Amino acid sequence: MAVWQVGTATIERIEEFSSPGFPPAVQFPDYTPGIFERHPELAGMDRIDPQTGNTFASIHSWLLRFGGETILIDTATGNGKVRTDPKFTRFHMIETDFLGRLAAAGVKPEDVSYVINTHMHVDHSGWNTMLVDGDWVPTFPNARYVFGEAEYRNWQAGGVTALAQPEGLPVIADSIEPVVSAGRVTWVSDGDVLIPGLSFHAMPGHTSGQLAVRLCSNDQTAWFSGDVLHRAMQVFEPRLNCFLCEDNELAPLTRTGFLETCAHDRALIFPAHFDRPHAGRIGRRSDGGYRFEPVEPA
Ligand SMILES: [Zn+2]
Repeated sequence: MAVWQVGTATIERIEEFSSPGFPPAVQFPDYTPGIFERHPELAGMDRIDPQTGNTFASIHSWLLRFGGETILIDTATGNGKVRTDPKFTRFHMIETDFLGRLAAAGVKPEDVSYVINTHMHVDHSGWNTMLVDGDWVPTFPNARYVFGEAEYRNWQAGGVTALAQPEGLPVIADSIEPVVSAGRVTWVSDGDVLIPGLSFHAMPGHTSGQLAVRLCSNDQTAWFSGDVLHRAMQVFEPRLNCFLCEDNELAPLTRTGFLETCAHDRALIFPAHFDRPHAGRIGRRSDGGYRFEPVEPA
């Protein structure tokens, strides 16, 4: 199994699926193909499928073992979930062996101590629950589910995120509410510490309540960045917003601030959808911009 090490922590990627996602000009309304000429090193990082013209998207969870805990960060799409919005065809009623791949990493559902959702989108919350005898129940029976309080509030009736993205409400219904009803949630906000070395930080823009997770161990830093970034091209041109970003003015400010922090700290970042090798560091370019430096697992 491919493993990244950060201080005393180990991190593995549990893939749900990897496939061509959206055409880049659809996913990023301000995209122009010239980006590959402006930043030639980008070509190997954001592969474009020759058949469809779409960029490859990885849908995965990050398995973090740290401080004696087994932690799953973001839970992909889930099996058998009805996702009828046209944007969500890749996620509709899929069946994958995600739990088998988790088992191959040595983790049974009952072994997971914390499940974290950076935000409550279709591809980040799905495996929170599974269908048992017609009911959606928590997949990880012994886990505390760690949810952003503001993120959840914004999805409630009249909340800013619910109003902006009503197509996401079925996700709340089948992947969030059953966990809340079961009393399994630990609510967190900006600055909260889950266990020593693991903390939550507001990254508003993609959703208003998104939280990134920072890991610090033995003077090394890593970030699980949710959807602050979808593709490496956004490191090179942070103004590029995804068409699913909720606040198009705030998202690039958050993205740029995050890139500056990561470049300064030489942090290893674990985004939610980057193409292989799926993780890396943020470097500086001579023109003042940022570059992505992919880091292979050991
Ligand atoms: Zn996502």
